[in-house]
Amino acid sequence: LTNNLNKGREPTLSTDVDDPSHPLYHHRRIVTDFDYGEILGEGSYSTVLIGRDKRTGKQYAIKRLDKAHIVKNNKVKYVMIERDALSRMNHPGIVKLYWTYKDNRSLYFVLDLAKNGELYTYIRRLAPFDLDTTKFYAAEILLSIEHIHSRGVIHRDIKPENILLDDNLHIKVTDFGSAKIINENENATTGDGENSSTAARSFVGTAEYVSPELLRSDAVSKEADLWAFGCVIFQMLSGKSPFKAATDYLIFQKIKSLDYVMPDGFSPEAKDIVQRLLTSDPEKRFGSAATGGISAIKEHPFFEGVDWENIFTSTAPPLR
Ligand code: ATP
Repeated sequence: LTNNLNKGREPTLSTDVDDPSHPLYHHRRIVTDFDYGEILGEGSYSTVLIGRDKRTGKQYAIKRLDKAHIVKNNKVKYVMIERDALSRMNHPGIVKLYWTYKDNRSLYFVLDLAKNGELYTYIRRLAPFDLDTTKFYAAEILLSIEHIHSRGVIHRDIKPENILLDDNLHIKVTDFGSAKIINENENATTGDGENSSTAARSFVGTAEYVSPELLRSDAVSKEADLWAFGCVIFQMLSGKSPFKAATDYLIFQKIKSLDYVMPDGFSPEAKDIVQRLLTSDPEKRFGSAATGGISAIKEHPFFEGVDWENIFTSTAPPLR
């Protein structure tokens, strides 16, 4: 997928990876390398299907994006960001992008298959989660966020719908279409086509999980993902996100005034970690550089007993 946003030209889409130094260059795949099966879901610009590699028999989730639809709706840059951000990732808690290819109509992303669908479905069905289950998923999400940030990316849309579960009920973070890629020179490429200092001006992400700094039009940094992480812990423990309201406008009002109610049932450790993560000032938010980074979050008493090194190879708690 090459960004053909050439000056003065209409954006076009291509999956050519012409640069031999590109990680995908040596492993080209084509449409007929796979058998296509059941549809796993549909997005606004995409259909995700089960795909089987004819050579190895291995199953994948294949995301098929309609080129004409993407160009027509001005979504080329979001697709580029998604591919570029995903191809930087290499972590058990994050959906892996194996190959991209195209045919006349579509672009295809070959991804890890997360057979058990969205964490959101389990929260709806089972929440409140018990403390051990919450701790387990929170720990896997935190490690995944740590990896995303270590690869110079801000996800910007962490929420239970974007946390998928594999065969063994371990997480796979997905949906990098709203991500911001921080380049070595500290300029940033975003789905908004803006640089790091102006990226906050347009709304990305999902209303309920949006950080207050984004609503204040301050520059958005990695800490925005930690705000959303706080919202997700709250949601696993209570069944609903902390800033719920009838309209996006009312949700934004609540976020700006930090208007949420901590449920009585939360343990003191849960209350403390949620409160620290839901801090308006990103520099004072738990996990910011000034508060000790993500390692400080790992050391919080809420996570007592978590085996950080082995969590992705451990047995997940039964979700029922
Ligand atoms: P939108 O594009 O409107 O934001 P979306 O992000 O959900 O929607 P897709 O990424 O195309 O769109 O995903 C469509 C559906 O397919 C999702 O709801 C998800 O449940 C499912 N899905 C996506 N990726 C995978 C995967 N790797 N494994 C299993 N299911 C997946």
